[in-house]
Order: sequence, then C-alpha cells, then structure tokens
Amino acid sequence: MDFSLSGEQRQIRDTVAEFVDEEVVPRAAEIDETDEFPADLIDEMADLGLMGMPFPVEYEGAGLDYHSYAIGLSEIARGSGGLGTVVAAHTSLAGNMLYEFGDERQKEEYLTALNTGEDIGAFALSEAEAGSDVPAMSTTATADGDGYVVDGGKLWISNGSVADTVTLFAKTDPDAGRKGISAFVVRPEEDDGFVVEGTEDKLGDKGCPTAELRFDDMWIPEERRLGEEGEGFVQALKTLNGGRITIAARSVGIARAALDEATDYAQEREQFDRPISDFQAIQHKLADMDTKVRAAELLMHEAADLKMRGEDFIKEAAQAKLYASEISREVANEGIQIHGGYGYTKDFPAERFYRDAKLSEIYEGTSEVLRNTIAQQLLDE
Ligand SMILES: Cc1cc2nc3c(=O)[nH]c(=O)nc-3n(C[C@H](O)[C@H](O)[C@H](O)COP(=O)(O)OP(=O)(O)OC[C@H]3O[C@@H](n4cnc5c(N)ncnc54)[C@H](O)[C@@H]3O)c2cc1C
Repeated sequence: MDFSLSGEQRQIRDTVAEFVDEEVVPRAAEIDETDEFPADLIDEMADLGLMGMPFPVEYEGAGLDYHSYAIGLSEIARGSGGLGTVVAAHTSLAGNMLYEFGDERQKEEYLTALNTGEDIGAFALSEAEAGSDVPAMSTTATADGDGYVVDGGKLWISNGSVADTVTLFAKTDPDAGRKGISAFVVRPEEDDGFVVEGTEDKLGDKGCPTAELRFDDMWIPEERRLGEEGEGFVQALKTLNGGRITIAARSVGIARAALDEATDYAQEREQFDRPISDFQAIQHKLADMDTKVRAAELLMHEAADLKMRGEDFIKEAAQAKLYASEISREVANEGIQIHGGYGYTKDFPAERFYRDAKLSEIYEGTSEVLRNTIAQQLLDE
C-alpha cells in the first residue's frame, strides 16, 4: 500500500497552499466579519482553475482527478471554511450533477460556465420540512407544454443567492415518493418566478451565502431536465456520496488550521516563566490533535482514491466525513483551550475554526444519518 501523494497531487497541494497563504488567510477574518461573498477571490481562484478542478478540459475544467480536487479543497478550507463551502457546493454538488447526469448540450452550456468561474453553482435539495428526509419534499414540477411549472421553496441553499445555475430537485409525480423526484437546471436570471427570500445569519461558514429560495409558477423548459423523470432522488444520493469526500476535506483543512495556530501559540505564550508548550498537558493536547487530523486525512485520501478509481466508496465516504467532521470540531475546541481566554475572543482565529468546523457535522448528511448509512452498508456486506 502506497500512502504517498503523486507528483501531480503534491503540485496541486503546494500551488493551492501558496495561493491560500498569500490571498485567503490574510482576508479570512474580514470575510468572517462581513459575511460577504468574496467575489474577487473567486475570480482569482477561477484564473487558477480552482472552480472546476475535477472536470475535463473539454468543459474548461482543470482536468484533475477527484483525489487531487479533494486535496485542493482541503487547502482552500484551511484558509476559510466559508470559501471551502462555496467551492464544494459549486463543484462537488452543482458541477457533479451536470457532469454525471447532464446531456452533452447541458454540459457544454452550463458546466463549462461553472468551470471557468463565469457562473456560480448551487444545489437545491433541502426544504423546511425535508432535510434528512429528502422524499418529504413538497416542491413540485408540473408538466406544462414543452416544459414544467415549478412551485415551492428550498431552504439552506449554499451559494443560493449568488448562483447563476441551480440544480433543483422537485416532484414530477407527487404520489410516487422517492421515485417521483426529478432534477432540473434553473437559471435565476432567466426564470421568472425565482425568488431569493433571504439569507441565514449563521454561527460560522461566513462568506458563503445560505439562501432561502421560492419558486412562484416558475416555468422552465423540458430541455433543462437532468436525466429522466423520477431519477432525481438517486442522482442526489450519488452526488452527495461524492460531496461527502470534499466535506471531509473541508473538515481536515479547518482542523489543520486550528492545529497549526495552536502549535504556534503554545510556543509563544509564556506562563510560569516558560512557554506553555513546555507543559505536558499542552503537549498531549497537540499530540492528540495531530493524530486525529492525520487519521482523518487518511480516511479522506482513501475515500477519494476509491472514487477516483471507480470503485465503491459509499461507506468510506460516509466514514471519512463522519470522522473528519467530528474530529475537526474536537481539534478546534482544543485549539481554543490552548489559547485560554484569548481563544474565546475574536483576537485569534481559534474561535472561527470552531464555528466553521461545526457545520460539517450537519450538512450533506448529519452525523446521525451517516452512522445509519455506515451501519446499513456494513450489514449489507
Ligand atoms: C449552512 C448550511 C448549508 C447547507 N447547504 C445546503 C445546500 O447547499 N443544499 C441543500 O440542499 N441543503 C443544504 N443544507 C441543508 C442540510 O443538508 C440539512 O440541514 C441537513 O440535511 C439536515 O436536515 P435538517 O436541518 O432538516 O435536520 P433534520 O433532518 O430535521 O434533523 C434534525 C436532527 O434529527 C436527526 N435525524 C433526522 N433523521 C434521522 C434518522 N433517520 N436517524 C437518526 N437521526 C435522524 C438529525 O441527525 C439531526 O440531529 C445546508 C445546511 C446548512 C446548515
């Protein structure tokens, strides 16, 4: 078993890390404070090919494998958890829906614009009454001439208020449960009846707008349907399985940032005439934090590698996200503890890492739902 990164993977990591250290880290506190979508940083990332990392060059993607993409995303999240979500929702969710289930014309038209960063993507699945229970959704798409009329609303949609392309899930057959769900491409600028109700004021993940969307008699042409009617639920699950690998990567990135910051602080802060890193209690915290980050990284690499090779990865992706998100919150918590009172203030980024880490335990499958998935996979084996 070879655990080393390939030359290309190392190059991606180093290139993104350099960009993040120079451009993102110095802006991270400001993004957290203002909660504004960092459009200028997204433009810079697009120039570097970071808005379409895992997609082929024929659609203006960077042509990287999924594993390299996860490594790149982890570095972005090390700089800003919110930026990590912007890229993950845009790429792993909206981009992958188009890449996996779009026809040639849809890919050329919509995926290409996402990959160049000209367009921003969002993935609209969750509703007020349908979070973990996806088939409980009530948004409908009713056949109407050579298209559909969409009515309903979506909640918690990352990038939802800034998106140019929204991959939307709605019921085309409300009596058919999960088999009655279909997926569509929605273009907010073109589709009358698309309304942004507002954005959430969240604990963390700032800079990535989380929007509530409403659709009032919104007509969309049939050619914007992704795949066949009734395939939406399976398409969503497949997309989320891949997405979980990148939420594991986001978690690892945030945990790494918390560990690096705590390691530096422990060597600078003096109490009792010595750096606090001299105390074994602090050393043990750092040792546990590093061990957890490395274990999460290995799970993330394994799941990404399996997906890249086209092998089954559902259980591994769920385990990577479950473990990485939980240790990310634990590591960030210990980061605050090592900073003492200063860690509880906005003078240091330790508290931001904690707020950003928490989210990964909730979206793209809560920890409880992931444990259900893992157990199901185990019992089916
Ligand atoms: C910041 C943010 C960004 C998001 N971005 C997106 C996005 O871009 N697109 C999108 O579609 N959605 C998005 N979501 C929605 C997210 O995926 C849901 O919040 C999540 O799936 C949980 O749904 P819920 O909030 O309705 O919680 P619920 O499903 O109501 O869950 C509440 C609690 O019950 C538990 N629970 C529920 N069902 C079970 C079960 N079967 N077994 C055990 N426990 C269970 C849950 O684990 C949780 O602890 C986002 C959410 C947030 C907070």
